[in-house]
Amino acid sequence: MKIVTSQQMKEIDRLAAEQFFIPSSILMERAGLSVVLSIEQVFKNLSDLSFLVLCGPGNNGGDGFVAARDLLDYTDYVTIVFAGDEKKLSVEAGENFKRLKSVGGDIRVLGVDVTLDDVADIMKKCDIVIDALLGIGIKGEVRGQIAELIKLINLYSNYVVSIDIPSGLDSDTGKILGIAVKADLTVTFGLPKPCHLLYPGRELCGQLKVASIGIPRVLRESKQFTRQIITKQLVSRLIPERFPDSHKGSYGKLLVIAGSAEYPGAAVLTSLSALRVGCGYVHLLTCSPANEVAIQREPGLVATVVDKKHFCEQDVAIALELSNNADAVVIGPGITCNDGVRKFLSEFLENLKVPVVIDADGLNCLARDLNILEKIQVPAVLTPHPAEFARLTGEDLSDVKYNYLLTEEFSKKYNLVVVLKSATTIISTPNETFFNLTGNTSLSKAGSGDILAGMIGGFAAQGLNQKDASICSVYLHGLASEHYRHREGSMLVSELLDLIPVAMEEV
Ligand code: ADP
Ligand code: ADP
Ligand code: MG
Repeated sequence: MKIVTSQQMKEIDRLAAEQFFIPSSILMERAGLSVVLSIEQVFKNLSDLSFLVLCGPGNNGGDGFVAARDLLDYTDYVTIVFAGDEKKLSVEAGENFKRLKSVGGDIRVLGVDVTLDDVADIMKKCDIVIDALLGIGIKGEVRGQIAELIKLINLYSNYVVSIDIPSGLDSDTGKILGIAVKADLTVTFGLPKPCHLLYPGRELCGQLKVASIGIPRVLRESKQFTRQIITKQLVSRLIPERFPDSHKGSYGKLLVIAGSAEYPGAAVLTSLSALRVGCGYVHLLTCSPANEVAIQREPGLVATVVDKKHFCEQDVAIALELSNNADAVVIGPGITCNDGVRKFLSEFLENLKVPVVIDADGLNCLARDLNILEKIQVPAVLTPHPAEFARLTGEDLSDVKYNYLLTEEFSKKYNLVVVLKSATTIISTPNETFFNLTGNTSLSKAGSGDILAGMIGGFAAQGLNQKDASICSVYLHGLASEHYRHREGSMLVSELLDLIPVAMEEV
């Protein structure tokens, strides 16, 4: 499913009117109705419930007027509080203000008919508060009485439904503009927006429902929208098929360059996860004792050891020789980042002839010498977590987290795939971006990233391009973690390895 910024959504509204003769009044009518129908889906019987509908000064408030009018079909217990000026409403919102009044809607204007204290009292007694205060038209930090209303919602409401987006969120980033509503249910229209997917916004939305309001599918699926959510259907189309008449060579050969005396486990996790996604042959090049640890855990691995604690320049020859025999390479997990390792990495990458996944210390080495990236001649995937991406870009950590504009820029600049890992992971290629929503906190444990790198390498060795290998891996990695049936915090990364087949079976 595509996702759109506030600017793109406004463009969609404009095109719906101009090319498809669906004016914004029709969209507003259906938006308001879809909110009521979504609440009905959750609560089944609306006639026993009481509602407070808080409407803001813009079109988000207009959707609220429609929802209030539709609720009056079910129950008399609907109070509407309007935080705005009737004279400044848009044409559509103004019409719906009048319609609501004419069907007996009890609209009280904040500051004229009710005080904030009155609103707090009503709120405490109401079953459901509908937040129609601010939508994608928000500009800057939340101001004035609306900020006060949001405070009250978060303090006193029993169940909150936000229309389109929780008020106070920046639609394009998911950041809180001073203060934002914590919703139980958010009903958005046509397409999701970044704030529904990116934290903290993702959490403030509660349950998310994307309602269809009559925006034609050709418009929603337009090629000009280059960002989308990774879905199960997308992944199931990409996972490589298995043919009965095949052999290990049919499923690719991966070279994993990982581990050091201090971090033998990283080498094991990266290699084994590649086998778990179906790769036919994994050759591990590592330092002692990781080779022994790896073979003990899985005798199906082939390991070559460089007889020292860390990789260094002298190891370039053996690494390149092994890579000539491989379909893809993963490099980085646990290799550390001293001078010798950096020389090894840069000379290896400059001369490499097969696709590569660079993770962890591989990225930290690159961050010290970015021009290596320009010398890489093969398709590459970088899999930074936010701190690694901050080092690579030279930006502050708080500015890189969930920053899809930055992943897009970096991907274009160096012509490679960036996988920015977090609770919502962002994959950017030079012309597309994908958001992944699977996974949980069981992945917040050392080693889970090494597994992801191995999965991407394992799929790449089987012939998937860098984009598709990343999409499949990130989705399945998250899905595997969701299969952990005990407390999220208790999962061992070795158990995650064993759950990869369960996730693959599910898609
Ligand atoms: P639109 O009408 O563009 O769909 P919204 O319904 O989201 O937009 O709300 C926009 C209205 O909200 C603006 O007309 C403005 O009056 C008000 N507004 C915008 N930003 C803020 C803010 N930060 N704090 C309070 N009110 C705001
Ligand atoms: P390491 O280097 O220790 O193996 P990374 O930080 O590189 O770990 O990778 C952690 C992985 O776990 C990433 O794929 C990240 O997206 C995922 N992850 C971590 N925490 C969460 C979370 N709370 N929800 C979903 N995924 C998470
Ligand atoms: Mg890592």
